[in-house]
Amino acid sequence: MKIDRRSFLSLGIGAAAGTALTPIPWKMMDDSAIWTQNWWLTPVPASGEVSYKTTACTLCSGGCGIKIRMVENRAVKVEGLENHPVNDGGICPIGLSAIQLLYGGTRVKTPLKKVNGRFVKISWKDAISEIALKLKELREQGNAHKLSCLTGSDKNATSLLLKRFINAVGSNNFFADTTVSDSYELMIKKVHNTDGSIAFDLENSDFILSFGSGIIDGFASPLKMIRANSKIKEQGGKFVQIEPRLSNTAAKADKWIPINPGTEGVLALGLLHVIVKEKLYKESAVSGNITEFNKFKSLIIQTATLNKAAEKTGIDSKTIEKLARSFASAKKPIAIFGRGKGNTPLGFGEAALFYTLNYLAGNINKKGGLFITDNKKINWPEIVKDEITSTGLDKSRMDGAGVGAFEDTKYITHRLTNLLNSKNQNSIAALFIYNENPCYTLSDSKKINKAIDSVPLAVSFSSYLDETALKADYVLPNHTNLESLQDIPFVSGITGELVNL
Ligand code: SF4
Repeated sequence: MKIDRRSFLSLGIGAAAGTALTPIPWKMMDDSAIWTQNWWLTPVPASGEVSYKTTACTLCSGGCGIKIRMVENRAVKVEGLENHPVNDGGICPIGLSAIQLLYGGTRVKTPLKKVNGRFVKISWKDAISEIALKLKELREQGNAHKLSCLTGSDKNATSLLLKRFINAVGSNNFFADTTVSDSYELMIKKVHNTDGSIAFDLENSDFILSFGSGIIDGFASPLKMIRANSKIKEQGGKFVQIEPRLSNTAAKADKWIPINPGTEGVLALGLLHVIVKEKLYKESAVSGNITEFNKFKSLIIQTATLNKAAEKTGIDSKTIEKLARSFASAKKPIAIFGRGKGNTPLGFGEAALFYTLNYLAGNINKKGGLFITDNKKINWPEIVKDEITSTGLDKSRMDGAGVGAFEDTKYITHRLTNLLNSKNQNSIAALFIYNENPCYTLSDSKKINKAIDSVPLAVSFSSYLDETALKADYVLPNHTNLESLQDIPFVSGITGELVNL
């Protein structure tokens, strides 16, 4: 039989219609779906009583409220907590991933000890007694001060307990990762002689002048900042981003003003020059201390010229003038500072200039302005010191903090990096690393890797074999954020206090 094109097409269409109308293929698909669901390797969602637990996320400094969906007491999902002051029901992908951290297949579940370059499992009892023995030897040799600790934060109780432990052994060498919060604290201490920090009430402002703060790139309390950005847009407020590069935040701002890298402080000086010269400041802000203000005024007018600011920043003087007038004439202006995500500190001088802009705008501790927050401190009982502890604590810190030019330098991780890289590195005999991955996060990871290799005893408190844990002699698995009982004494960007329940 001859098959021509017409009969071939008719045959094809008939076969397709017949297959679609017959129930057999659909039945086969249904059966195979049911069959594969019963395979032993197919994950089956837990069934049982559903309940929720509320807590706060500690995977970044944001402090979002979250609720955990539990099925038969097993956490199965993380959701944002409605009406929470930080995130009001929102959640970011990192917060959602807490379940993966909890059940991740590569999670370290038992202590590990490195033997001939490979990790072997050991019991908690053995790990603790072996490390304790090494610390005892250090103390007996008069080297208690050579114990050092590096943590991601020194704000929460867990880190502070670790600090107490290091101090009790006889060492001052506790180092926390540096962030812009440290600059805020130092500035508040210097300016107001009080222990506090700064919160920015962006949501209620009508003009945000951001000195490189990545408001929608994850600055401080990311969800709070993103919500604030949306709210200010809804309310018809203005948002100006000063930044050398076109970041996501710069792209979404009402105006992006490119600036030469590192010259944001010079721009602040130029703005202050215009504000002071044209008397654009709020009288109420300066009326309390006219004499001091007049001294400041003449200094700013003489030294911080507009031309100098324009030359250094690469922003023309007309734009600087216009920006200063727009900022000062807004009803509730706010200058926010801390570059990028706020992971690096600012110089004291720069921070003070940005703060002064807020001060002259009369927005300190006012709705839509900059709030000075209390840093609640835990009042720990005194450490019981024996002779070795006292001798160790009498020795100055390895990085020279508290001495001369470094008198105010409480948090100087970058200098710890130098220390690890220097000839003095022999001064570290034992290093505890908690909630931190310096081999990945610090700038010169090659040198840091080498330096940590040279520390005789490195102990990592980590749930995962990250880059630093891989270098350690012992890995003591830590709790994930859903398991740990940890306070959040201060949440960047808001003025209240939240506690992880
Ligand atoms: S923004 Fe930070 S605190 Fe909030 S859910 Fe994401 S990781 Fe957690």
